[in-house]
Amino acid sequence: MLDSKVPAGPLAEKWSKHKFNMKLVNPANKRKFTIIVVGTGLAGASAAASLAELGYNVKTFCYQDSPRRAHSIAAQGGINAAKNYQNDGDSVYRLFYDTIKGGDYRAREANVYRLAEVSVNIIDQCVAQGVPFAREYGGLLDNRSFGGSQVSRTFYARGQTGQQLLLGAYSALNRQIQKGKVTSYTRHEMLDLVKIDGHARGIVTRDMISGKIETHEGHAVLLCTGGYGNVFFLSTNAMGCNVTAAWRAHKRGAYFANPCYTQIHPTCIPVTGDHQSKLTLMSESLRNDGRVWVPKTREISAKLRKGELHPAEIKEDDRDYFLERKYPSFGNLVPRDVASRNAKEAVDDERGVGKSGVAVFLDFTDAINRLGEDTVRAKYGNLFDMYHKITDENPYKQPMRIYPAVHYTMGGVWVDYNLMTTVPGLYALGECNFSDHGANRLGASALMQGLSDGYFVIPFTVGDYLANLGSFAPVDKNHPAFEQTRQEVEGKVAALLALRGTKTVDDIHKELGKIMWEYCGMARTAEGLTKAKAMIQELRKDFWQNANVLGKNEELNLSLEKAGRVADFLELGELMVDDALDRNESCGGHFRLESQTDEGEAMRNDEEYTYVSAWQYTADNQPEVLHKEDLVFENVKLTQRSYK
Ligand SMILES: Cc1cc2nc3c(=O)[nH]c(=O)nc-3n(C[C@H](O)[C@H](O)[C@H](O)COP(=O)(O)OP(=O)(O)OC[C@H]3O[C@@H](n4cnc5c(N)ncnc54)[C@H](O)[C@@H]3O)c2cc1C
Repeated sequence: MLDSKVPAGPLAEKWSKHKFNMKLVNPANKRKFTIIVVGTGLAGASAAASLAELGYNVKTFCYQDSPRRAHSIAAQGGINAAKNYQNDGDSVYRLFYDTIKGGDYRAREANVYRLAEVSVNIIDQCVAQGVPFAREYGGLLDNRSFGGSQVSRTFYARGQTGQQLLLGAYSALNRQIQKGKVTSYTRHEMLDLVKIDGHARGIVTRDMISGKIETHEGHAVLLCTGGYGNVFFLSTNAMGCNVTAAWRAHKRGAYFANPCYTQIHPTCIPVTGDHQSKLTLMSESLRNDGRVWVPKTREISAKLRKGELHPAEIKEDDRDYFLERKYPSFGNLVPRDVASRNAKEAVDDERGVGKSGVAVFLDFTDAINRLGEDTVRAKYGNLFDMYHKITDENPYKQPMRIYPAVHYTMGGVWVDYNLMTTVPGLYALGECNFSDHGANRLGASALMQGLSDGYFVIPFTVGDYLANLGSFAPVDKNHPAFEQTRQEVEGKVAALLALRGTKTVDDIHKELGKIMWEYCGMARTAEGLTKAKAMIQELRKDFWQNANVLGKNEELNLSLEKAGRVADFLELGELMVDDALDRNESCGGHFRLESQTDEGEAMRNDEEYTYVSAWQYTADNQPEVLHKEDLVFENVKLTQRSYK
């Protein structure tokens, strides 16, 4: 039975009361505990720094050569917080409500309220660290709007918010490394979880330079390993992002929740061909001032595609600002799932733009006329430069072309209110867990969640677990579980290195990505998903028979690293499809064509599907077991989402 451990009592008091009711670890005893933090992006770095500051011994692990290269650095647009600096009607409750509604009523109320509540502390914490948020003329921190909300609550540092936040967390982390409270292991990839008597007590890693397979012990393990969007091959995620740590923990007993909830971001640079291995996001902040449109008719679109017309030559009357037309109150700032589906609809209707026709315009002409080019440059200059460099088109002179791309995964390791997984002592934070965004994440809420988990939630909840252990003894590093798990990892590495077929791992990954995009992407059907399941099973066989993994273990071996990750993606892909098949309703980013309103919007089925799907691994090639966590809504009324 899944117990979310949501505390009783009124929503706004739950977290405060819970903090008071949890046991504390005496300062002198904190140094007797060691906590393993896997991942040093915003979630991991903030957790590790905070826990070390409290006095715990911390070991951090990441696969990059420095914690500051974590994928969080790529975040552009901003971070939400209910500070109400704009005095435009924001509040903790409104941020809570927007997030629950934005997630299409598929998130836990208590978690979301806590997130909104601590959001205000995050900004203070980051400012104290010196994060250079944009400021207004009067000196207050500036805000901009993001999708799914009618207030301006997004704090930002030009188009580099993630980088600046990560530098803040990284500085705090480094302070603790310098003090000897954190031992940092870079270029180390976690390949398995070690359990003793059912509790997480360590990990197995591979030193990515020497190939050495090592074990590390600790009293608790925190997975902060990011999202799994790269299961689609093409995504806006960094090339290294993967599911391996989460997946291997899943195979050791951590349930995986809502794997099919994927966010497909509307404002990305469109795919140009089969040669690409990465897609580029143009921040959602651009929808503050950019207007999304396509021509009203197929004829005009056809002329645009052939280069017979320039966008500027298309008269106002011939343009369809489809988001403004369909959603007058939110306009271009509808949530991502809604914006993406509408772009797809325009393209499917053959009104797309660009040579391929698989794109829509994001146009700044009005903003430049209204605000002046200098103001637009000050707000978005680095994003415009990036677009210009990649496409060789000047967005000050002609509209950007954008199209949806895989961006974020709302699904992830199931956690209770304390962020603990179904394995005692194992926690998941940041994008790695499923916790707060339901079926669709609002823009600028991932950074907020990662830092909330790391700075403000885990320092309390992990303490409660440790205080209840009843012993301060170090974990026995000679326990046979360590050697046994290490040998199992060695066996898996050897199996990968024995693959000497004719296909590259990348080819297989690309094939998987195409299946996922086609059948488990923006629109899904029972028929397509059933087909995809069979195709993925075949592809997995193909991988284990025909993949070619070069080199040996005792060296820097990118081919081996990639093979391990793709092997896990092939298993996860099937679970995503199973999950999407099980959820015979549309909600947020999960759009089942069978379940839509007359106007083509996602139609939920609250009677049957108001639950979190938490999947339990059983054995290789065996169906996983579905557990359901019922979602209880005591504070908001479930309605058909409307942004009109
Ligand atoms: C282009 C882009 C722009 C974005 N912009 C925004 C934005 O403006 N606002 C917003 O709120 N969100 C944004 N997001 C989302 C947000 O950036 C991420 O959700 C968030 O940064 C994830 O942080 P994290 O700490 O959970 O994981 P990450 O930053 O991905 O860090 C993962 C860490 O885990 C480590 N790791 C992974 N696997 C292993 C392993 N097996 N062993 C050892 N270490 C491992 C990595 O080395 C890394 O240190 C954006 C995302 C993208 C792709």
